[in-house]
Amino acid sequence: MTKISPELHTESAFSFVGGHHCLDFVNTEVMRQGERLELLPSADQFVAWLSAANLLTPDAAEQAHQFLKQPEDGATILTWVRVFRWQLRMMLDQIILGETVAPAIVAEINRWLAFQGGRLQLVQPAHGFCLQWQAAPSAPAHLLVPVAVVAADLLAEHDLTLIKRCDNPQCIRYFYDATKNHSRRWCSMDTCGNRMKVAAYYRRKRQEEHE
Ligand SMILES: [Zn+2]
Repeated sequence: MTKISPELHTESAFSFVGGHHCLDFVNTEVMRQGERLELLPSADQFVAWLSAANLLTPDAAEQAHQFLKQPEDGATILTWVRVFRWQLRMMLDQIILGETVAPAIVAEINRWLAFQGGRLQLVQPAHGFCLQWQAAPSAPAHLLVPVAVVAADLLAEHDLTLIKRCDNPQCIRYFYDATKNHSRRWCSMDTCGNRMKVAAYYRRKRQEEHE
């Protein structure tokens, strides 16, 4: 059973260390002190995550919050989110193991892509251009479309060999290794990287003492 931590219910608790929003979405489930921790305990938090990831404009988020006034819609959205995230986690594990992505997962991404509720827009960040999905949700299912778009983008437009799972065996976060020599090992230097380096230091020290 995934533990829900009250202090992590805020938007600021979301971290975007994955290097790609598909990975960041799967990373909304983390390990803390040996237990799985749910960062999306409610549909409201899912909408907050979409907003924090810039996958939903403030207007679209406002529309989304209208659905959530219907408790059944909120519960339905949350079930979709959990199931889709679990499928994307399986997809990432298949990629990391060098297996073929299950056709059922591709079909599921396509099923969500088939819901429109928005449009593609050309945006101009600091360098170059990118295509971004602008959600205009008029039905609860439209909220899953931005996630399907980033999942499709990961599969179709990125080097799948650069998808990695954090080297800390206690961690379940994924990241896209965009470093020059593809040597990134940890989801974050602030957490796992430091912890693993400190552990390696003490291991070495103990070995030296016994020599
Ligand atoms: Zn980690």
